[in-house]
Amino acid sequence: MIIDMKKLESNVDAVAKITKEDGGCSMMLVTKALCADRNVCKMLAEHPQVDFLADSRVANIKKYYDLVAANGKQSVLLRLPMMSEIQDLVKYVDISQNSEMVTIKAIAEEAKKQGKVHRIILMVDLGDLREGMFFENEEAILDAAAEIEAMEGVELFGMGTNLTCYGAIIPKNDNLSVLCDIAGKVEARIGRSLEVISGGNSSSIYLIWKEDMPEKISNLRLGESFLLGNDTAYGETVPGTVHDAILIEAQIIELKEKPSLPIGEVGKDAFGNVPEYEDRGVIKRAILGIGKQDVDIDGLTPLDEQIDILGGSSDHMILDVTGCDREYKVGDTVKFRPEYGALLKAATSEYVEKEYI
Ligand SMILES: *Cc1c(COP(=O)(O)O)cnc(C)c1O
Repeated sequence: MIIDMKKLESNVDAVAKITKEDGGCSMMLVTKALCADRNVCKMLAEHPQVDFLADSRVANIKKYYDLVAANGKQSVLLRLPMMSEIQDLVKYVDISQNSEMVTIKAIAEEAKKQGKVHRIILMVDLGDLREGMFFENEEAILDAAAEIEAMEGVELFGMGTNLTCYGAIIPKNDNLSVLCDIAGKVEARIGRSLEVISGGNSSSIYLIWKEDMPEKISNLRLGESFLLGNDTAYGETVPGTVHDAILIEAQIIELKEKPSLPIGEVGKDAFGNVPEYEDRGVIKRAILGIGKQDVDIDGLTPLDEQIDILGGSSDHMILDVTGCDREYKVGDTVKFRPEYGALLKAATSEYVEKEYI
């Protein structure tokens, strides 16, 4: 994995310009797709425009909570906390997203024990049907907010929602306005304004350049948009970003002319599937030393557009390089742009080395 720190930092600048300057929101940058890579998190923690560093795993935040504190920022746990991790949560994390009163009570108890105040973002489900209190149960949400407000050990920091994850529901002015509405009623009930109304992830940022973001949304949580430059609502490029700040590179270990159809009776491949092949005659086949244990092969796009990915197994990937102008040879490397899933898998594989340029 080649991480171009300058390009990544300039992607951060670009999403900050949109989110903060144009949108008037605070910005949480999400570190989970790179498994909280220390070098990248250091850059983010030191970046003057980044307000919070967020991740879905306590184990990841544990790797950088010192950097966050040293730079006067705060860490945010995105996934609802597990009951079994509350001690570490209170110790290493400043803010967490929550939807269960029983968990929030346990956090408050632990925070009192550790002499801390833990901040809570109460999640509202607007219909994507992953986490959050269901938006139709408005009374229950207002009661929960009031109960958190009255508790010692925790502070109601804000309200939030998450979309385009499970249900693939696209954030719009109308559904986000429901969150703003509920947040307004919460503020009236507790008699003060909330620090953040968090309007979602990289699928929400397009609303700012379309000038359709509800006024009251005051925060976004962004991962894919600064890592890969993707608006994840409609697949546009986030203005000012590049898609090649992070690349995957692998080496050719065999390069031979062979038929495109396997010879013999076809059984099942290494993953139990019966493969289908296209007869292209004799082709130039390159084998790379990378496989499904390291990346999601279907989520890679070769920078050399004349390369065709044929498939792969656990440790190998096979390319058709017949149509390439470049004369590849054994030992050459081939570069790919990863999609989100391929990036996540590569960052998680201990076999993929990271190189920073
Ligand atoms: C992963 C995650 C994000 C960031 O999502 P991107 O699509 O990478 O911007 C934001 N919020 C929550 C709750 C998440 O789980």
